[in-house]
Amino acid sequence: MNNIDWANLSFSYMKADYNVRCYYRDGKWGELEVHSSEYINIHMAATGLHYGQEAFEGLKAFKGQDGKTRLFRVDENAKRMYNSAIGTMMAAVPEKLFIDAVVKAVEMNKRFVPPYESGASLYVRPLLFGAGPKIGVSPSEEYLFMVFVMPVGPYFKEGFKPTDMMITRKYDRAAPLGTGNIKVGGNYAASLRAGDEAHAKGYSSVLFLDSKEKKYIDECGPANFFGIKNNTYVTPESKSILPSITNMSLIQLAKDMGLEVERRPVPLEELSTFEEAGACGTAAVISPIAKIDDIDEGRSYIFSADGKPGETSVKLYNKLRGIQYGDEPDTHGWVTVID
Ligand SMILES: *Cc1c(COP(=O)(O)O)cnc(C)c1O
Repeated sequence: MNNIDWANLSFSYMKADYNVRCYYRDGKWGELEVHSSEYINIHMAATGLHYGQEAFEGLKAFKGQDGKTRLFRVDENAKRMYNSAIGTMMAAVPEKLFIDAVVKAVEMNKRFVPPYESGASLYVRPLLFGAGPKIGVSPSEEYLFMVFVMPVGPYFKEGFKPTDMMITRKYDRAAPLGTGNIKVGGNYAASLRAGDEAHAKGYSSVLFLDSKEKKYIDECGPANFFGIKNNTYVTPESKSILPSITNMSLIQLAKDMGLEVERRPVPLEELSTFEEAGACGTAAVISPIAKIDDIDEGRSYIFSADGKPGETSVKLYNKLRGIQYGDEPDTHGWVTVID
């Protein structure tokens, strides 16, 4: 029935059987619809295409050893997309509708949830955009909310391995009072050139500084930043950071493990004091950082000289993955068991 090579999946698009859609028209949300086509038919003057009325989410479903499928903190994704909608004047998707759509999309595509042993998972992509025509700049009166899924491989194929990142003052991702704190496509478009330059120079990502003063650490493109020192988990506080659900979860797990947690502005110079550093997000959970090169100032900050991740990062990573796959008890009620 399936001929998917679970062991060799990457993070790339793959067609599943169904996607779930819901339209907002005449001031209200309609019924959930199930579609098998990968294409959508929308008006050429849709505000999502012209004026960036668009937001998305990303979360994963995991198959456990018990054969059950678990969604991780789907209610938090629902709340975040709600805030993204408010921030871009879109019709907000009610939390229950969001969760129902995600659960339905996973259930309808059950055969694409990778087996436990593969270390792979089902990536879920909810999407919301202005679908009605407007040519003057104003919010659309129609919206399409949809959810599609695809199996994706484990982020670290050769194991949990630190990578290098770079800092430059040449680009900003988001402005302090702009849209950095909501998950909208425009922030990603704004970060593509910087990311491309980083990749061309051999770095996995850009670590953005705050756009106003270039004095503090903001975040790493699509992932939040954290550092570990003196038994303390430190993560930046900033108006232009996207509130990562992975970071929120690691903060709780760090507290559970007896670490102190500090969420505050992190000055660039403080990088030299961290024993460990990492980027966190749904894709990798934790992406440990070996070294950060400030390419404008010609300065390097080194966190792993032996190519191995730090002890605390490994502990946090294993704990979070354990909860996601159902190997560790879900003491904070983060998991939605589908069946
Ligand atoms: C989605 C995203 C993250 C990670 O958030 P998670 O909920 O942990 O996946 C971090 N930064 C940005 C800019 C993002 O868009």
